[in-house]
Amino acid sequence: MQVNYCSSCGAAMEDKNVDGTVRRACTRCEFVHWGNYSIGVGALVVKEGKLLLVRRAQEPGKGYWTNPGGYIEQLEPIQATVEREVLEESGVRAAVKAVLALRDQPRSIHNVYIAFGMEYEDGEPTPDGIEVDGAGFFSPEEMETMNVAPFTRWLVDVAVNGRSEGLTQDAEPIVPLGGYGLFRA
Ligand SMILES: [Zn+2]
Repeated sequence: MQVNYCSSCGAAMEDKNVDGTVRRACTRCEFVHWGNYSIGVGALVVKEGKLLLVRRAQEPGKGYWTNPGGYIEQLEPIQATVEREVLEESGVRAAVKAVLALRDQPRSIHNVYIAFGMEYEDGEPTPDGIEVDGAGFFSPEEMETMNVAPFTRWLVDVAVNGRSEGLTQDAEPIVPLGGYGLFRA
């Protein structure tokens, strides 16, 4: 998809060499179209050896059981997004513990997905009835006979058989870094 008009000032865009790479750039202002990117976040909420799954009521993936999640918002910290998505989709309160996995999909909209290990706090799984029409905690054995999405199966393996604690939040970094959300090994 070619970008013809500047999303900042509305003027025409042109091909321009920006530091050795040809990119679409505005003919009037400094705007450069760097690409199309999206970032998703997912929740791996474990309770007594079972993982929280929801059943998608909408495309893409309608009818599949997946872990809760969504897309990040412009000014919301990603851990707040994933905690909010879990609550909205399933009625469960859970807190971010660690970053456990990452998926990269370089394509027309380059997507990066970050999976968080989360600690269950309270709430009975209850589907929101809009995005999802089922919710519950399930063991890996129970999932064998369920319509679990392939990528979710991979994430379940990470959650159950993970080989490290993952990246945990650094609330007191060794140097002051205001405005950063920091996760470290
Ligand atoms: Zn412009």
